[in-house]
Amino acid sequence: MPTPIDLAQCAVHTRTNLPWSLRECCEHYASAGIGGVSVWRDTYQTIGINEAAPIIHGSGLRVPALVRGGFFVAASESDRRTAIDDNLRCIDEAAALNAESIVLVVGALPGVPLADARAMVLSGIGAIAERATTAGVRLAIEPLHPMYAADKSCINTCAEARKLCERVGSTSVGVAVDVYHTWWDADLYTEIKRLGDADRLFGFHVCDWRVDTRHMLTDRGLMGDGVIDIPTIRDHIENAGFKGMTEVEVF
Ligand code: ZN
Repeated sequence: MPTPIDLAQCAVHTRTNLPWSLRECCEHYASAGIGGVSVWRDTYQTIGINEAAPIIHGSGLRVPALVRGGFFVAASESDRRTAIDDNLRCIDEAAALNAESIVLVVGALPGVPLADARAMVLSGIGAIAERATTAGVRLAIEPLHPMYAADKSCINTCAEARKLCERVGSTSVGVAVDVYHTWWDADLYTEIKRLGDADRLFGFHVCDWRVDTRHMLTDRGLMGDGVIDIPTIRDHIENAGFKGMTEVEVF
């Protein structure tokens, strides 16, 4: 029997409760005894970061992650520069919100070979790592399921994400393990341990994989509604030394 989850050690991604506003998310999560909120940047697009920050600080909730940075892959040098600038802004926003990390969905683009895309990602993360360290914000690379390799993420396994961290070489760069994207990987438990040993296990996201998935993006099931062995993955995460929050990310 897995240990029951302590809600105070859980955070919910604001996207889970679309169309709630940031304030509604914070109020509802706090009153339910949930300990944290993982903030999607679009939640404060209309009000701006200066209005968003006091909502978060007043809620008493922890912010394990700001979601999301990345998307470093672009067809032109100037578009890649624009992406880096946006990531630097994202680091400033994370610092303003006291967010512990930024989730990086690294990007991919039809027409850009995956090898080139991965080189752009390495260079992009390399360009922002120092600013993240100075700001005290960790960068959590989230490997996405290979079904997104064409247009969202050229990094699809925990092993690839770990090697990317090693190549960037900053202690501020690690990995967010999302069960939805990684549950099928035969090396998952080995990689979770390696990430823990290297102090690069920065995030843990849960939802479930429905056998009859109706939409690649928007049909992430509630925990228990699908086939992912979440308790076993969680055991491995905890045994690897992860002390962060469990983030619920359901669409
Ligand atoms: Zn995730």
